Amino acid sequence: MRVFHSPASALHDPALYFRRGTMVTHPEQADRYAILHQAVSGAHAVTQAGDHGIEPILAVHDAGYVAFLRDTWERRHELPGVDDEVLSGHFSRPHMSKRPEGLLGLIGYYTADTSTPIRAGTWAAIHAGAQIAVDTADTALGEGVAYALCRPPGHHAYADSAGGFCFLNNSGIAARRMQANVAAREGRPARVAILDIDVHHGNGTQGIFYEADDILTISVHADPADYFPYYAGYAEETGAGAGVGYNLNLPLPHGEGDSAFHRAIEKGLERIAAYAPDALVVALGLDASEHDPIGALRVTTRGFEQAAGLIGSTGLPTALIQEGGYLCDALPDNLSAFLAGFEGGR
Ligand SMILES: [Zn+2]
Repeated sequence: MRVFHSPASALHDPALYFRRGTMVTHPEQADRYAILHQAVSGAHAVTQAGDHGIEPILAVHDAGYVAFLRDTWERRHELPGVDDEVLSGHFSRPHMSKRPEGLLGLIGYYTADTSTPIRAGTWAAIHAGAQIAVDTADTALGEGVAYALCRPPGHHAYADSAGGFCFLNNSGIAARRMQANVAAREGRPARVAILDIDVHHGNGTQGIFYEADDILTISVHADPADYFPYYAGYAEETGAGAGVGYNLNLPLPHGEGDSAFHRAIEKGLERIAAYAPDALVVALGLDASEHDPIGALRVTTRGFEQAAGLIGSTGLPTALIQEGGYLCDALPDNLSAFLAGFEGGR
């Protein structure tokens, strides 16, 4: 299958991460790009993504937020003491959410936590990630499937907020792109489903499309009652307004393995079949792995292969968008197994 990537993905390489009162090595490291790239090289047709500009990003994200992401590194001189990373420890909350003017306040206005520092190469990396998603969406419609080696991930990013290592919602960008392409080609409204199998709830994706009935969002993840993202991902969240009934959360008890993972994916696929979309986006996190350093489920490499077979059997044009999946020996094997399993399921 065609794989899209960009060397710019390595330009965002956060150093440390403030977690539970201590600074730890940031789990979302640039090495993920090199390791995943190595896993697909040889087995698949690997192509560097082109540049489709800012429009596909603005189809999903708030213009003020995008400008903030683009300009913050250049404004770093406004913050005394900034070294390699721009980051805030202050965050807006529902009780106080006025947009301030100063840069430090803006950072906390547009970010949810301390996991998304902005560095010299951050904009180049996240802009490239969005372009990878666009090329993957376009190719998946023509060729049936394509894989986006996106890094950093995107599914925790809302229309106007970074968080959970994510800045731009690459899966959401791919979904809107596929929808627009099909609508233009067929001369009618089009519908796309997003199936998120990352171990963490796809809260940003849910938030972006919560009031939409033309993008169905489904997330299979570990129960957020005691796991990131904590404040969303519950079964009772089904959508709002026109979107009621078009968001499905399938939380799993921590420690569950292949069989529960597959059952939840099958439930999601039943909902997708009933929706009859024109195309599918898979938010492909690999951190449900039994070996993932920050995971909470116990999916095996064979389990990922089988899950991919189930998803591939839908026959829908499918954009596979890389989300989470952190450094461990199983990471490249799980990607290879998933891509092989998907092709086997076709
Ligand atoms: Zn994740």
